[in-house]
Amino acid sequence: MTNPRKTMDEPVHLEMPLTPPVPAPQCQVCLRAERDRAVAREQGDPSAMTDANVVIRRHPNHRLGAAR
Ligand SMILES: [Zn+2]
Repeated sequence: MTNPRKTMDEPVHLEMPLTPPVPAPQCQVCLRAERDRAVAREQGDPSAMTDANVVIRRHPNHRLGAAR
């Protein structure tokens, strides 16, 4: 006998998590992205904010070893 499913699966997260990445101190790339993000926030530009978050999130090789 089959057991028909009555509940939905957990939602699949295709988007990035909403918690903003933390820029590494001493990292020029992070610093610039953080500045861009602040400007984007002031201008109400979520797309640009996301872009800046992506920059911060996607480069693990921070300049002065802030990443463990
Ligand atoms: Zn960085």
